[in-house]
Amino acid sequence: SEARRIDETRRDFLANVSHELKTPVGAISLLAEAVAGAHDDPKAVKRFAKRMGREANRLSLLVREIVELSRLQVQDILGDSSPVDLFDVAEEAVELSRFAAESKEIEIDFVGSPGCRVLGDRDLLVTAVRNLVDNAIAYSPRRTRVTVRTQVVDSLVEVAVTDQGQGIAPENQQRIFERFYRVDPARSRATGGTGLGLSIVKHICANHGGGVSVSSELGAGSTFTMELPVAPVEITSDPHAPEATNWQL
Ligand code: ADP
Repeated sequence: SEARRIDETRRDFLANVSHELKTPVGAISLLAEAVAGAHDDPKAVKRFAKRMGREANRLSLLVREIVELSRLQVQDILGDSSPVDLFDVAEEAVELSRFAAESKEIEIDFVGSPGCRVLGDRDLLVTAVRNLVDNAIAYSPRRTRVTVRTQVVDSLVEVAVTDQGQGIAPENQQRIFERFYRVDPARSRATGGTGLGLSIVKHICANHGGGVSVSSELGAGSTFTMELPVAPVEITSDPHAPEATNWQL
C-alpha cells in the first residue's frame, strides 16, 4: 500500500543518510589519529590538517543538503510564492557558477530574454538552476562550453542547461534523480558531490508544479531541462492602484 511504500522510502533514506555521513566522519576520526601520531613531523601534520578541513567541508555540505531536501519534502512552496522571472534566476545562477567555470576554462553561454515569469520561491529556483550548471561544469572536460537557455514554450517556462561533457548512459538517466545515486561514486566524491543535487532539483521543480528531464548521449554531452508553468496573468482592477492586484488562474 501507499503507506508501506512511504515507510520503506523513509527507511531507505535514513539508511543511506547514515552510510553517507559515516564516510567523512570516519575519515576525520582517522585523520585525527594520524595528526596525533605525527606530532614530530610538522609537514605531515599540515597535510593531515588540510585533508581534515576538506572532509569537514564535505560533511557540512552533506548536512546542509540533507536538511534542504527534508525541508523541500514537507514545504508547500506555492502557499507563499511570488512572481519570479526565470531569466533573472538563471542569470544569477550563472554568475554564482562563474568561478568554477573559469577554473576549468569552461565558457558559459547565456541565451534568453526577460519575461519568463513563474510563481515561486526565488532562492529555491536559483538553487535548482545552479545545481544543474555546477553539474554541467563538474562532469565536463576543460575548455568546453556550457549553454544556459531560458524560453517560454506554450504555457511553460523552460530552463535548459547543455554541456559537452561525458554524457549519461540510457540506463542511468532516470536513476540519477534518486537520492544519493551517482553513476561513478568515486568521481562524484572527487568533484565534491553528495549525490543529492539532482533530487533537490527534482523536488524544487515538483513543488513549483513542474518537472525536470534529461536527454544525453554518452561521450557527447547532456541537456537538463526544467519546465515550470508560466505565472498567471496579472490583472490590476485600477491602474492607479498597483497594490491592488489579483491573479487570474
Ligand atoms: P552529485 O553530487 O554526485 O553531482 P547529483 O544528484 O547532482 O549528485 O547527480 C547525480 C549523478 O548524475 C552524478 O553523480 C553524475 O554521475 C550524474 N550527472 C549529473 N549531472 C551530470 C552531467 N551534466 N553530465 C554527466 N553526468 C551527470
